[in-house]
Amino acid sequence: MLESLREELWRLHLELPKNNLVTWTSGNVSARDPETGYVVIKPSGVRYEELRPEHMVIVDLEGNVVEGDLKPSSDTASHLYIYRHRPDVNGIVHTHSPYATAFAALGRPIPVYLTAIADEFGGPIPCGGFALIGGEEIGRVVVESIGDSPAVLLKNHGVFTVGPTAEAAVKAAVMVEDVARTVWIALQLGQPDEIPPEDVAKLRRRYITEYGQ
Ligand code: 13P
Repeated sequence: MLESLREELWRLHLELPKNNLVTWTSGNVSARDPETGYVVIKPSGVRYEELRPEHMVIVDLEGNVVEGDLKPSSDTASHLYIYRHRPDVNGIVHTHSPYATAFAALGRPIPVYLTAIADEFGGPIPCGGFALIGGEEIGRVVVESIGDSPAVLLKNHGVFTVGPTAEAAVKAAVMVEDVARTVWIALQLGQPDEIPPEDVAKLRRRYITEYGQ
């Protein structure tokens, strides 16, 4: 079932190694089908180059496997917690992308030092507290600390991004790493100034209402 969503999710998983956001089997993407409410998610611990659309696991919002032969991602309970608490979210990505995760290791949010941060995130990229892997704890921290941002860092762990679609969440994961890398380089040179909040709001509004075709 959900053949086209399985295929899309498989294709989106390939963006993670392509954009240097994951190593070996780390990271995962899920997508919620708005019609059935079912969630399609990566199987746990499968190498990206070995992944196929038929390996994706379909679960309901309580975590029961609806279809799939493999064990779902170890972050499944946390993805489901986020979907249950954020009806606007239909896609979630988790990575340990290195520059963003360096900020996460220190428990440090990323301030708005760049117009790209205002455009994509509408404010600082927040950092939530430490949570253990395997249950809903990570999902709870994400929901508590992400606010209106499409991305949150998790202390000592990595990055979670959300979006109205899985593709939007993947884009946010790519952008978090891009800005984290630039901010890290800037911090080697000196101390950047933050963009004032009123300009952040103007940049975000322009990006949402005017940018692109
Ligand atoms: P899974 O392969 O189980 O999704 O785990 C990857 C990961 O990064 C867990 O935090």
